Amino acid sequence: MSRPGLAGAPELLSRIAREYGTPAYVYDLAAVGSAAVALTADLPAPSGLVYSLKANPHPDVVGRLLADVDGAEVSSSGELAAALAAGCPPEEVVYTGPGKNLRQLVEALTAGVRRFSVESLVDRDRLADACERTGTDAEYLVRLNLPRGSARGALRMTGRPTAFGTELADTEAVAALLRARGRARPVGTHTFSATNVEDPAALLQEFHNAVAAVRLVCDTADFTPRLLALGGGFPAPMARPGALVRHPDLAAGLASGLDATFPGWRRGRPRILFESGRYLTAAAGTLLTRVLDVKSSGGRTFVVLDAGVHVLGGMTGLGRLMSPGARPLTVGGSGDGEETEVTLAGPLCTPLDVLSASTRLVGPRPGQLLAVPNTGAYGPTASLLGFLSHPGPVEVVVDGPRVRGARRLVVNSEEVAPRV
Ligand SMILES: *Cc1c(COP(=O)(O)O)cnc(C)c1O
Repeated sequence: MSRPGLAGAPELLSRIAREYGTPAYVYDLAAVGSAAVALTADLPAPSGLVYSLKANPHPDVVGRLLADVDGAEVSSSGELAAALAAGCPPEEVVYTGPGKNLRQLVEALTAGVRRFSVESLVDRDRLADACERTGTDAEYLVRLNLPRGSARGALRMTGRPTAFGTELADTEAVAALLRARGRARPVGTHTFSATNVEDPAALLQEFHNAVAAVRLVCDTADFTPRLLALGGGFPAPMARPGALVRHPDLAAGLASGLDATFPGWRRGRPRILFESGRYLTAAAGTLLTRVLDVKSSGGRTFVVLDAGVHVLGGMTGLGRLMSPGARPLTVGGSGDGEETEVTLAGPLCTPLDVLSASTRLVGPRPGQLLAVPNTGAYGPTASLLGFLSHPGPVEVVVDGPRVRGARRLVVNSEEVAPRV
């Protein structure tokens, strides 16, 4: 079996598990850097790339990425603080999100952020109010909800009923958004149709569709954009073996589309901006977990791990959890015996705590160390950290073979005084 990334360094992983305990995420900064280099090389030039902190806000990961990309995409006070603490100049922040409140906007403007993605007239007017209050000017991108495109196997953000953006059919709202309000001024558009688009041809098609739709919107409103944020959708394997795909045809394909629609783009009129979270971080992460128990029920083997949905993949919706379908690899000298089909359960007292309904493990036994590859994106902060009050997983940062440090996310409870 191929052992990608850190799974190819069993001594290092065994040592980290011994010294820091499990469950432990290990983030390799060298792998973060090479993902950024690969993605940048696959994008049309000139263009910018910002890191979406949602995928992994760990300070060292953010710090490493900000050295390699052109800024940060944030959508909360915590993400903004993490980007600024990592040294991101506030003018390189893009502040996004469908529900920004006045306090958040005032705080961002006060910190020096000047670029926002606005999702509706209400959102835009709230930004204008925040500008008024703080005595600052802001530029904004109009987030458009485009008609359904072609991406297959992807999590769609637009093109169907969604809370994101303003739909093109609402022509009055789109036209109004492309006119300034107070100290808030439109400078371009923001489109982001799908995430984790696994087929490079489908991803290119998504970008073509977006560029064509934006051209039409700009023509209709007689609007000259200075910045087109085209989103992302760059895919990465999650919690299973696999390598990052490259996009060898994207740069040339998209460049010719842009030549036809926005011919000034090669001189930065408009500037083209991409966003990525998972592609930049997924492959850099490995989750170490130990087997706590092995038992059988109804003819099925259950392997109980110390990592459950409080640590990995625990994003929940409507009382239902999607199991991350994890496929761990064994670490160190535990690889003898029969391969068995097993269910991977976590330690939480709920039948929803399943990391994989069915996968194969060699000779599972208590104490065995497993490594779940490609877990650098949407790990701890996308999990049910507070559920059942276990300590958060350790997050160990390595750079090649050297351990740089270890931290733990803590869920805290604090007293709140009533507002006056
Ligand atoms: C979540 C998000 C991203 C990052 O998506 P990935 O699939 O992790 O690359 C980028 N832009 C916006 C606006 C997002 O909401």
